[in-house]
Amino acid sequence: MSKSLRWTREQTQALFEQPLLELLFSAQQIHRQHFDSRQVQVSTLLSIKTGSCPEDCKYCPQSARYKTGLAAEPLMEVELVLASARQAKAAGSSRFCMGAAWKNPQDRDLPYLEQMVAGVKALGMESCMTLGSLTDRQAQRLADAGLDYYNHNLDTSPAYYNKIITTRSYQERLDTLDKVRQAGIKVCSGGIVGLGESVTDRAELLMQLANLPAPPESVPINMLVKVAGTPLEHTEDVDPFDFIRTIAVARIMMPTSYVRLSAGREKMSEQTQAMCFMAGANSIFYGCKLLTTPNPAQNSDLKLFTKLGLNPENSVIEQTGSELVAQVNKQMLEADTELFYNAGR
Ligand code: SF4
Repeated sequence: MSKSLRWTREQTQALFEQPLLELLFSAQQIHRQHFDSRQVQVSTLLSIKTGSCPEDCKYCPQSARYKTGLAAEPLMEVELVLASARQAKAAGSSRFCMGAAWKNPQDRDLPYLEQMVAGVKALGMESCMTLGSLTDRQAQRLADAGLDYYNHNLDTSPAYYNKIITTRSYQERLDTLDKVRQAGIKVCSGGIVGLGESVTDRAELLMQLANLPAPPESVPINMLVKVAGTPLEHTEDVDPFDFIRTIAVARIMMPTSYVRLSAGREKMSEQTQAMCFMAGANSIFYGCKLLTTPNPAQNSDLKLFTKLGLNPENSVIEQTGSELVAQVNKQMLEADTELFYNAGR
């Protein structure tokens, strides 16, 4: 389907109802028309301001409303953020994503955020931020500083959304994506599987994303990480095949977007992750923490890349998966890894 056509509910639902292996075959064919199937884009995500968030996202340990034992931390100093970005670059990441647990940034934060973006760009990496809602002016300032991507997820379907979040409307999210797009920043937006939503909700989420005026350049698909103390702590597990199916449908509906296998990878087997790559996922977060929840260690990711014959795309240091495994193992023996692991929360 071309970008100018809109996906209907019936078409989207029909994809979810296809026999899984048929769906995977279609997704893989579409994937190969638009991407090198052996390349995976690798991003590192750093929490630059942690916890005490006024929002009530029921999956999130950073909400001030839930007792998760998470220690809140103020906005990090620019130099510490850039030190972490340098480590991420040395470990093979091509994009550095900075996340802050805010409803929205304050104008007084902008000069620091601009310096972070400029510093990451100066390293030759792509920059991404996720800071909550933005004003037009804030989006433009971040664009002028060189921000490549802005992440703001739709999370789930419009119908299921208010069971998960009540403090920010779905329309506010769409408005922020529009401001980001108008400012000339690339859009990163996706959702979460495993919130207790139905298959119809997953289909509606993907329809919302695919039917945006332009589909997001990056579409993170997360598996819920159930954190003790959050309202979704005891939500039922999702069958891995249903997650893989969601990735495949995302690939088919947004053929030119990077589909990112995001949160929840730590609990996935290598085989599940391999099937996600088969289904068209071609981006991962890399590093031992995703904001505040665990992520597979870098060297286990790289070993998986080696087993599957995958390579990190546009790695600034241009190494194969196996060369990176050797490099990361060497780095882990060196004293300065402490900074990376402590800063990557
Ligand atoms: S997901 Fe973001 S906005 Fe929602 S509570 Fe967590 S940090 Fe705040």
